[in-house]
Amino acid sequence: MSNVQKKTDVILIGAGVMSATLGSLLKELAPEWDIKVFEKLADAGEESSNEWNNAGTGHSALCELNYTSEKADGSIDITKAIRINEQFQLSRQFWSYLVSSKLIRNPQDFIMPIPHMSLVQGEKNVSFLKKRFEALSNNPLFQGMEYSDSPDKLKEWIPLIMKGRTSNEPIAATKIDSGTDVNFGALTRMLFDHLKNKGVQVHYKRSVKDIKRKSDGMWEVKVADVDSGKVEYHTAKFIFIGGGGGSLPLLQKTGIPESKHIGGFPVSGLFMVCNNPEVIAQHHGKVYGKAKVGAPPMSVPHLDTRYIDNKKTLLFGPFAGFSPKFLKTGSNLDLISSVKPNNILTMLAAGVKEMALTKYLIQQVLLSNEKRVEELREFIPNAKSEDWDIVVAGQRVQVIKDTEAGGKGTLQFGTEVVSAADGSVAALLGASPGASTAVHVMLEVLEKCFPENMNKWEPKIKEMIPSYGMSLVDHPDFFNEIHASTSQTLGLIKKESVYS
Ligand SMILES: Cc1cc2nc3c(=O)[nH]c(=O)nc-3n(C[C@H](O)[C@H](O)[C@H](O)COP(=O)(O)OP(=O)(O)OC[C@H]3O[C@@H](n4cnc5c(N)ncnc54)[C@H](O)[C@@H]3O)c2cc1C
Repeated sequence: MSNVQKKTDVILIGAGVMSATLGSLLKELAPEWDIKVFEKLADAGEESSNEWNNAGTGHSALCELNYTSEKADGSIDITKAIRINEQFQLSRQFWSYLVSSKLIRNPQDFIMPIPHMSLVQGEKNVSFLKKRFEALSNNPLFQGMEYSDSPDKLKEWIPLIMKGRTSNEPIAATKIDSGTDVNFGALTRMLFDHLKNKGVQVHYKRSVKDIKRKSDGMWEVKVADVDSGKVEYHTAKFIFIGGGGGSLPLLQKTGIPESKHIGGFPVSGLFMVCNNPEVIAQHHGKVYGKAKVGAPPMSVPHLDTRYIDNKKTLLFGPFAGFSPKFLKTGSNLDLISSVKPNNILTMLAAGVKEMALTKYLIQQVLLSNEKRVEELREFIPNAKSEDWDIVVAGQRVQVIKDTEAGGKGTLQFGTEVVSAADGSVAALLGASPGASTAVHVMLEVLEKCFPENMNKWEPKIKEMIPSYGMSLVDHPDFFNEIHASTSQTLGLIKKESVYS
């Protein structure tokens, strides 16, 4: 059975943090627009945005070593670190706007202050960390960062990690107190509650099966009721495909030229979660290590204090792995079904190029629990396997495309907005740095898809996100002002804060 529903201005596919962010921006910029959301699961934020499916790091390059690479001359390139930090500041400003306008409440339910640390061992890595510290610590965005290679200082910062450590290898860490733990699941649910209050129709258990362009230029979306199988057709002027890992197959269905020659490479993940309150109490911070040689950037190990369900907890991981599914709740046929005549060469080229990565991921899947505990013991020498359980994290579908620099079938590790030339449809692909930069990425969707509205919208965007369009690193006083005010509004102020 099928029927045709009334037209709407905007359809958002998927109820993850990306659709939540775009919907919230649009509701402020064009409150009169009708927005509908279709989500195949029973609630918002159940896939990658869920708190148990991602690491909850407010990525701002305070501790992630893969955002600062060492150049051939030995100096440290901090360009990417600055970019990601500035993008996170946009998210902080938009969330602060929503809190101060009372559109969402209780920021402590989704964002908490937590020191961000980087930890390395071995002479070469220690020298890299020192250089990284020297390159960043004088930069206004990274002020307050400390470095130490003194075991006594490190015992103060990370007692659990230092206890029982017998190796004589040099060890060093950096620490910065202005880091955050973000519960993206809670944030997504709050944003969808807010959208519902604003009249957005959010339909759960509705799976989008097809997207077609009609002769009048509108997009028609075929939606199936997950329980009854009943099919409905909805039309809209603008569609955002925010299906997370499920975005690529939906983008392919649009048939737009921009959807061709793109593939997806799914990477699965596991975290170890500590079940012993005594161990949890001995650690306070997000401590990022260095990726092993041959490991992809998303498998950098880290030991994280997390705030989930109003409780402090401790997670280690992620262990990356291979699964052909594009969503945690997806199908084993996802990868193979995404291979089309237009992307088969791109996919095959990536298959050949990324043999080593595939082998690495399969080895990771086959790791026994004892082997995982051995990796954990590189962080917590005295870790006991009975104190740790395994949780399955979300899927990350990395984009594969042909690029000038990398050639055919190059694996991308960032996020990408793919949109039609006329701006009537946009999809978000890729996973990193992900949810932290949702506001930046959704502003990019607005710029690409609604260029004719941007002049009119700009004053409102600047009211919500004062640093929009500005480089904060070039305006340190403005950065300090914004950082202090967002810290205040989001409840992130600590007595010792360098920004107060
Ligand atoms: C292991 C791991 C660790 C991560 N760590 C971090 C981190 O520390 N910090 C950070 O900022 N980011 C992190 N990320 C990335 C972050 O989780 C994602 O970038 C973000 O959650 C993506 O949001 P989304 O809305 O695009 O997708 P999702 O949250 O996956 O939402 C997509 C939604 O679309 C729905 N959907 C899909 N197909 C259909 C369809 N056909 N019809 C209807 N609905 C559909 C899905 O059910 C889902 O609810 C991590 C990700 C993973 C997997």
